[in-house]
Amino acid sequence: MKVSLLNLKLQYQGIREEALKEIEKVCDNQSFILGENVRALEQEIAEYCNTKFAIGVASGTDAILLPLIAAGIGAGDRVITTPYTFFATAGSIARLNAIPVFVDIEPDTYNIDPEKLEYAIKKQTAAQRARLKAIIPVHLYGQCAEMEPILKISKKHKLAVVEDAAQTIGAEYKEERAGSMGDFGSFSFYPSKNLGGFGDGGMVTTNSEKLAEKVRILRVHGSKPKYYHKFVGINSRLDEIQAAVLRIKLKHLKAWENNRIKRADRYNMLFKDAGILDIVSLPAARPYNRHVFNQYIIRVKKRDALREYLSNQGIGTEIYYPVPLHLQQCFKYLGYKKGDFPVSEKAAKETLALPIYPELALEEQGYVVNKIAEFCKKT
Ligand SMILES: *Cc1c(COP(=O)(O)O)cnc(C)c1O
Repeated sequence: MKVSLLNLKLQYQGIREEALKEIEKVCDNQSFILGENVRALEQEIAEYCNTKFAIGVASGTDAILLPLIAAGIGAGDRVITTPYTFFATAGSIARLNAIPVFVDIEPDTYNIDPEKLEYAIKKQTAAQRARLKAIIPVHLYGQCAEMEPILKISKKHKLAVVEDAAQTIGAEYKEERAGSMGDFGSFSFYPSKNLGGFGDGGMVTTNSEKLAEKVRILRVHGSKPKYYHKFVGINSRLDEIQAAVLRIKLKHLKAWENNRIKRADRYNMLFKDAGILDIVSLPAARPYNRHVFNQYIIRVKKRDALREYLSNQGIGTEIYYPVPLHLQQCFKYLGYKKGDFPVSEKAAKETLALPIYPELALEEQGYVVNKIAEFCKKT
């Protein structure tokens, strides 16, 4: 049997005709930039995320970069995030010549550890603390970070909060939607995300009219009206074809989320039945969180050997993320070293993403778990 990490073709089959029809309409209209589909999608996403405003942008990366610019982050400012995330989170900070300040994660949710956050702020010198301007909590794999303490600490230190919700549209923390709790939410429509377009795309959410307006201006080179520039922005617009496709997919998103959650539950059951929980750690979902499982992540000591074993059995897996950001070559100048963030470093060595998507079949999941159990018994 062959089980791939992700199979987007199955989802496409269900929306193919409608998507092609809507793409044809956009082509017939020849209105490709910031048209009616983008405006409608912005409203629909705002509603879905329970925020007042949403602004379509060119990618999830820009959905982090633009809020940072709007929050006034610039050269020498310090922005807190975790070293255990996709590069874009810290890359956007560095792009503005601001300084990423890393804080380690919780070992079971892989999200920023609020206790370590307090401690990291305390450890900053007075001069550093004066430049501390923002925090990007990442809602990794589909589960929200511990927002209550994070928001409390942010308020105390006057930090702007940009939620990196790229993997987490529709997730909830204590009944609050991802992207609705901070000053901004950042979403990605990269094809492998829970709501994925036919290419790149992103969305910024916010409850502040003023900040929404600022992001809206910044995405068109900081101009308003056209050709009159108040700020130096960038070109970052969501295009009509993507918005048209995303509007179709958004109608299915809730059902797809529920199917992901069902499949995560199934994996949990299958792993328990296989009797290998002493070797394989399952994802931890806090009881007050709605985890939407963009990824289903297990933890095993012999991760690399397991990955190779599964690959030989036709099972696709992935390692998110093999090198924590503080150890990336491009961030050498920040002066971090091995051992600075032991929880992230350990996770980078032990985590493995298994196939998960709304259409994944029970037999396929059974096969994956059987092969993992086989590996555990052999080694
Ligand atoms: C995907 C992702 C991004 C960036 O999104 P793009 O649309 O690929 O630019 C940022 N942060 C996290 C955590 C992501 O998973």
